[in-house]
Amino acid sequence: MNPTDSKILKISATTAEKLAKLHLTSLWDLLLHAPLRYEDETHITPLGDLVENETCLVEGKIIFQTVQFRPRKQLLVRLENATGHFLILRYLHFYPTQQSQLSEGKTVRALGQVRAGFYGLEMIHPKIVATEKSTALKETLTPVYPTVSGLNQATIRRAIAVALEKTAVTDTLPEKVLQPLNLPDFACAIHSLHAPTPEYSAFDLNNKNLPFFRRLKFDELLAQQLSMRLARNERERLTAIAFNTSGELVQRLLAQLSFKLTAAQHKVLNEIKADLACSHPMHRLLQGDVGSGKTIVAAAAALLAIEAGFQAALTAPTEILAEQHFSKFATWFNALNIPVAYLSGSLKKREKQQVKDDLLSGRVRFVIGTHALFQDDVAFENLGFVIVDEQHRFGVQQRLNFKNKGNNVHQLMMSATPIPRSLAMGFFADLDVSVIDEMPPNRTPVKTHLKNSELRRSEIEQFVRKIIQDGRQAYWVCPLIEESEALQLKTATETFERLSQTFPELSIGLVHGKMKAAEKAAVMQQFVSGSLNALVATTVIEVGVDVPNATLMVIEHAERMGLSQLHQLRGRVGRGGGQSHCVLLFTEPLSDTAKERLRIIYQNTDGFEIARQDLQLRGPGEFLGAKQSGVPLLRFADIERDIDLLETARDTAAQLVRDGEDTIIQQHLNRWLPNREEYLGV
Ligand code: ADP
Ligand code: MG
Repeated sequence: MNPTDSKILKISATTAEKLAKLHLTSLWDLLLHAPLRYEDETHITPLGDLVENETCLVEGKIIFQTVQFRPRKQLLVRLENATGHFLILRYLHFYPTQQSQLSEGKTVRALGQVRAGFYGLEMIHPKIVATEKSTALKETLTPVYPTVSGLNQATIRRAIAVALEKTAVTDTLPEKVLQPLNLPDFACAIHSLHAPTPEYSAFDLNNKNLPFFRRLKFDELLAQQLSMRLARNERERLTAIAFNTSGELVQRLLAQLSFKLTAAQHKVLNEIKADLACSHPMHRLLQGDVGSGKTIVAAAAALLAIEAGFQAALTAPTEILAEQHFSKFATWFNALNIPVAYLSGSLKKREKQQVKDDLLSGRVRFVIGTHALFQDDVAFENLGFVIVDEQHRFGVQQRLNFKNKGNNVHQLMMSATPIPRSLAMGFFADLDVSVIDEMPPNRTPVKTHLKNSELRRSEIEQFVRKIIQDGRQAYWVCPLIEESEALQLKTATETFERLSQTFPELSIGLVHGKMKAAEKAAVMQQFVSGSLNALVATTVIEVGVDVPNATLMVIEHAERMGLSQLHQLRGRVGRGGGQSHCVLLFTEPLSDTAKERLRIIYQNTDGFEIARQDLQLRGPGEFLGAKQSGVPLLRFADIERDIDLLETARDTAAQLVRDGEDTIIQQHLNRWLPNREEYLGV
């Protein structure tokens, strides 16, 4: 909190510190602190008018109090009014002081939700608002704010009340913007937010869709849209090299494939081609469900850069995936006489140095690597194009380091984790998105099975054997390598030993994160070539691995995994022609969220639908991995529910920028995103 503001607020250093934990460090932060919900202490509902499930304030005289011991210790109090209507107050935890506060003969006011109880209507753990009949009712409804421990509601409310009184709340948006939207004045909205008058019901307030709420949501979304639009304009002002090529190398690449690109692959490749032919840097996300064939599109795009005389580089989040890309690209590119280099942390020092020398001298035109590519000592002769596979697995800073190896390079990011439309518009407006919305032909949807791992294990082991006898291969994935007693997770090693003992005639491999890169690569290679029948693995194989002959995926402790992880793993099979299966083994007891996740993955195969439900289950912050992506989160708007406002905000932002309304834009951003630069650079 800056000193002036904390002086105005008259708060202690400790309180200021607690507020800072909530990211409340200025008067404006306080004004924009959104309540979680509201309570209504502005009027009393007569005991005769109570409606089940409604939350209300009641008043009555205590005519009876007792502590009951069955089924468990609890305090029961009976309130009555003059007309003989009554209500039971029930406390399952209580202190002696509460007992005396609620002694017989007193008149009290209680706030709580009305429920049907054994003796009639009751409230469980109501809040006692006043014990004196003469206490005045509140004039406005009471907001309940998000808080941290040690900071009570009264303190936050007081601070916000002072902020409200001391701040001149002006409108950042002119009438001409607001008028067509039919949204209320900003100052009114802020006042209604923190001190809503009884014209509003607590129910409507809690629904967060009243016009004043929509005004706040709109302003918040507008700031977000403006911020992204400006970032985009800044990028478009940069000049990059336009790749004008005949596309001959791409033609030769496609000619050597055993398959034809799908229409969707052609479409996205053309979108990328058009971007690369422009003289400002491409910033495009290539989205396509697991197995939709993003890799070949990336390869073709890289050739456009190479044909134009520039170097290109691809990075992947795991060594296994980078290695696999390397072997694919090497096959494709070597046929075109284009050498491909590979760089990862696990290479020998001398090998690494060789790759670095080749990149700097320009002898090598294309490199694939892990995070090792972002190291300071990696430099290029003329890097013109970077590709980031599984982009959500990299942080903003890492991606920046990568693209800064060249000068205003073109960027292609790829992801199988689809971004639902609302999120794409809300958080990724600075990205152009290409979608591969079609699977290569002859894919049979994977059959998903849910099995209790304690009861059905040997049945599944037999299934593994059957698949292998049919000439196919199987994955068996375990989530952790180290035995964690608390979680009782099966380790990959244990599973490996058990399977090897049960089926001595099969050849089974093991790959996990603790192995040396070269060992991992060797095992993977054996699996790819088909000399291993089954592969037991930790989730190191989660992304990208492509072995079409593998048709069974067994996932241990599926209940502990996130939806996108499960979808990715399941996507490892179903890549050849045959029927593939995914067995999700779970261990009881299951939490509600785990049950929900398993239901979603069991019932859905479409990655977009899974992502949409995942977003609903977790909210955008968790979904995006907000910390890592650096995406600013929303306080008021709910990106799914308020998609209409998001669309309006997007159009308004475009209009303001088009009209060159710099002053308005700046003052609006200063209010909502004063630290804007902290999360730019996506
Ligand atoms: P992802 O989009 O998950 O990265 P990949 O690029 O690894 O998927 O492709 C999955 C598999 O599909 C690979 O074996 C690839 O060779 C194959 N594939 C890609 N495009 C086609 C196509 N048009 N027709 C047939 N198979 C294809
Ligand atoms: Mg891939």
